Amino acid sequence: MRAFAYQRTTQVRDALNLVSRHDGARFLAGGTNLVDLMKAGVESPARLVDIRGLALDEIGETPDGGLVLGATATNSAVAADAQVRRRYPALSQAILAGASGQLRNMATVGGNLLQRTRCAYFADPSEACNKRVPGSGCSAVSGAHHNHAILDWTEHCVATNPSDMAVPLSAFDAVVRYETLDGSGTISLSEFYLPVGDRPDRETTLPDGALITAVVVPASAVAAKSRYRKVRERASYAFATVSVAAALDVQDGVVQDVRVALGGVASRPWRARTVESALHGGPATAERISAAADLELATAEPLRDNAYKVTLARNLITAVLTELATGSAKESKK
Ligand code: SF4
Repeated sequence: MRAFAYQRTTQVRDALNLVSRHDGARFLAGGTNLVDLMKAGVESPARLVDIRGLALDEIGETPDGGLVLGATATNSAVAADAQVRRRYPALSQAILAGASGQLRNMATVGGNLLQRTRCAYFADPSEACNKRVPGSGCSAVSGAHHNHAILDWTEHCVATNPSDMAVPLSAFDAVVRYETLDGSGTISLSEFYLPVGDRPDRETTLPDGALITAVVVPASAVAAKSRYRKVRERASYAFATVSVAAALDVQDGVVQDVRVALGGVASRPWRARTVESALHGGPATAERISAAADLELATAEPLRDNAYKVTLARNLITAVLTELATGSAKESKK
């Protein structure tokens, strides 16, 4: 690991100044991804500005009934929060499925959204990787890619986004708040992650030097009827092969609101809007749900070794929405 400077700060303005004033400076929160990548020689910041002392760990309610998750709130705190568990259960479930207790105690909301792909070639500086070294090539396209993307990839990068938390946040239309030296701003999660294109090293639309200060999840009745399901390659913690966050509200047999997002299938959380529009306004029967899932996956372009993910994603969407529909039908009979 290369030598680096380290500074703590307790004021957002100071943190922004420190990062903008020093070339190669980075914010450090939980460090659960950045420090690993530094040890592997993938990241080599000249300076780390520790932001854990900033007053950004609030978990609370917005004036219009939404949820605000401070950027330095730990994943453990968010998953355990009573409001999160009651009003956005898929969010709590996704975080709990994401990592061990020790990691959740360190990892933060902002860091979770910014974590880098777990493509093995990205983590190995001896391999060609456009995300690590632009223009060097992509070892995964013809290499080991059984756990890579099936949607929206390009020949420049076929990696997936590893965040579990971002999947329900995508389904719930979350918004990222940030601060820069020029002022504050917001980005909806649907526009936060850039498409892969020919520059997979550019991952988000966050302005240079910006600090994420919070994630806001709008008030949503359907979110209380949500679920997160994750398939992974081993029983202990691992990144998603495919995951689904879904929420469903059925009244008098008709779908009033439905949200679906997938993880493990693309370079960003994949909002399954085709499923949503296919189901909205009609009955939530098993046949309609599986047909909607087929429609969503019709645009999938599996790589040589990951066609199984298409079937898996289809079956996961179908299973979770069918369970939610069954639960909804039982509720309305009570
Ligand atoms: Fe790098 Fe992306 Fe290719 Fe993996 S898939 S080797 S991260 S360019």
